Amino acid sequence: MDEGERQGMLNIVLFGPPGAGKGTQAQRMMDATGLPQVSTGDMLRAAVKAGTSVGIEAKSYMDKGALVPDSVIIDLIRDRLHDDDAKNGVMFDGFPRTVPQAEALSEIVEVSAVLAIDVPDERIVERICGRYSCGTCGTVYHDTFNPIQNGICGCGSFTEKRRADDVEETVLARLEAYHTQTSPLADFYRAAGIFHHVDGDRDIDVITTDLLAVLG
Ligand SMILES: [Zn+2]
Repeated sequence: MDEGERQGMLNIVLFGPPGAGKGTQAQRMMDATGLPQVSTGDMLRAAVKAGTSVGIEAKSYMDKGALVPDSVIIDLIRDRLHDDDAKNGVMFDGFPRTVPQAEALSEIVEVSAVLAIDVPDERIVERICGRYSCGTCGTVYHDTFNPIQNGICGCGSFTEKRRADDVEETVLARLEAYHTQTSPLADFYRAAGIFHHVDGDRDIDVITTDLLAVLG
């Protein structure tokens, strides 16, 4: 790969707390940019299943209940970046999660932009804690934003289903973990001049427009 090709690449890292709509925005950005999503979790599972050398090594750690070392994940990413669909860049999902991982990643690829979707914790709690779904068809409702009408779902029946971990205490703990994990990474990428905040407490389309605008 020569320098000209390298400069045309767009490698994105997307951050967002649980409940911020990161999955939706990632999908929209992939559609708009044509970049594939590189999910290290999916890649690990696929490598283990396929029995590749990296997969066998990863499995030896997983079988012991140990974390797969960063070096193994970096090897997986390095291989993935050679695939044809990654020639214009990729969107990283679930990686990096730590500063050492970000440092290791910088050794093999140039990250162009880190986008953080920000939503205040109290808004996340409000979004997540009011959620419930139809036990029959899975349609999602919300106490405040999208309550069920007349107690009957579109599918013609209704049994209310709430996830046990969608309660305030658990959501706040997840958010705390997210902030603890993300803030050193934000500092790392801020120092590199490629960290961008996008206000995620707005209309979904407006957020997508802003995310894409950052990419230029
Ligand atoms: Zn239903």
